[in-house]
Amino acid sequence: MIYLDNCATTKPDPEVLKTFHTVNEKYYFNPSSPHHKGLETNKLLEQARSQIRDILKLKNQSIIFTSGATESNNLLITGMARSKKPFGQTIITSHLEHPSALETVRALESEGFTVKYVEFKDGRLDLEHFKSLLNSDVTLVCLMHVNNVMGAILPITSIKEVLKNYPKVHFHVDCVQSFGKLELPVDAMDSFVLSGHKFNGLKGQGLLVFNQLKTITHTVFGGGQEYGFRSGTVNVANDVALSRAVRIAESERTELYSRTQHFKEQLEHAVQQLPGLYVNSLEEGVPHIVNIGFPGVKGEVIVNAFSKEDICVSTTSACSSKRAKFNEALNALHVPETVIAGSVRVSFDKYTTQSDINRFITVLQQIYREMKELIKDAV
Ligand code: PMP
Repeated sequence: MIYLDNCATTKPDPEVLKTFHTVNEKYYFNPSSPHHKGLETNKLLEQARSQIRDILKLKNQSIIFTSGATESNNLLITGMARSKKPFGQTIITSHLEHPSALETVRALESEGFTVKYVEFKDGRLDLEHFKSLLNSDVTLVCLMHVNNVMGAILPITSIKEVLKNYPKVHFHVDCVQSFGKLELPVDAMDSFVLSGHKFNGLKGQGLLVFNQLKTITHTVFGGGQEYGFRSGTVNVANDVALSRAVRIAESERTELYSRTQHFKEQLEHAVQQLPGLYVNSLEEGVPHIVNIGFPGVKGEVIVNAFSKEDICVSTTSACSSKRAKFNEALNALHVPETVIAGSVRVSFDKYTTQSDINRFITVLQQIYREMKELIKDAV
């Protein structure tokens, strides 16, 4: 099997699995228990938190362990919007966001919030348009660092520069697809989220990093764990294993970048040799995501054709593919409608090899030959 759907999820690193297993076996105690075993377990948990703090080069920010980026986005966006409601009710976001941010923001519209969407030009966030959306009613800006379908990188530091003139605005960033691939602009973000299973950790591992913990409305009530922000018995083994995944991913980041850059170039070159096909992903996007457009053919048909050859790729994103008729992110980035329907995402991680890329290209050429007439008619 050749696995090229690493934006959907990655294969767990054996070291992460080992940590998870060992901690579960030896420290299964409740870290809130007052006895010595509870205290030891709590110490382990706090060590994991402080290791992550060091690796991410955090200053005063708090780290909250969650079950994933979906929960992190929900907690922050809902809690922050509600706590700032007396000061303003406008949220700025974009059509590129993951459903866990977009649908949360949209749910807030029914509570009276106004949602505005920043536009994109030539694949880049339009900063002038962003500035035009800002006014005294804006309290929250929710954007992502790297888009999960096209690999577009958003200018987080420039956005923060603009926001310096709007001190009551909280700037929340989804760093799920950028951590382990790019250096995070930690000082430019008021809060951000990570998801362990996107960088060879485990599913159900998430982080919310936040600089104003006390100012937010809680949405999960109970025993007051995780600074009262996320009640529920803490999954210590999961969180310690996440800290291991964070350490490994950060230490391998630059090497992974150059390796995947090489893969991306090879793949894009191969696509460019096949008349009618499009490279949707941007040259200046992240190297681990390549998006290919097959006009005139449904993305699902292409994914199935690769599946028959034991190669896993995806149409848009796993979270959107079951919901949307057409991809909102590709549309916001002005990919033509005929190409959107036939878009396929190929994504790499540290386990992707040169022979995976070679095989993918051979199969791509084979599928192209079979579907050439359909593609030609559509162009
Ligand atoms: N944000 C982005 C950009 C993602 O790609 C994903 C995962 N598809 C999420 C958030 C949600 O992450 P999780 O699976 O940890 O809930």
